Amino acid sequence: MKRELGIGRCGLACCLCSENTVCSGCNSGQCPDRDRCENRRCSMAKGFTHCYECPEPCTKGLLGKTKAYAFTRFAGLYGEECLLDCLERNEKNGVVYHRIGITGDYDDFDDADALIEWLRTGHRQNESGENR
Ligand code: SF4
Ligand code: SF4
Repeated sequence: MKRELGIGRCGLACCLCSENTVCSGCNSGQCPDRDRCENRRCSMAKGFTHCYECPEPCTKGLLGKTKAYAFTRFAGLYGEECLLDCLERNEKNGVVYHRIGITGDYDDFDDADALIEWLRTGHRQNESGENR
């Protein structure tokens, strides 16, 4: 984990991104999607460092996907440092952010609340509601 790269404007984890050997994050100007990223454009226009600072309920751009949406909500609720702590703990426990291409263990979720809970506690609930 390159913790110093932190979280991208959209909520994705630059610190764990498989592209972070050639890209130093959203604000580096090296992201391959920089010119078409709606979250980057909009948060800059509104003067926010990240979408998690924005009070608007929003599913624009990458926030239409569960992972970025849940990470953004988590950082808004508990702060970016707490999100980084939880990602670091999960990584030490074997969770892989980008396992195949840009898909990994955090992409298994359709439910943002379930992903937020897993991030917060490090425990996943199975379908019968039991922790594992
Ligand atoms: S490619 Fe995107 S998500 Fe990955 S490190 Fe660069 S800005 Fe962050
Ligand atoms: S409106 Fe949406 S895309 Fe724009 S800064 Fe707020 S959360 Fe981000």
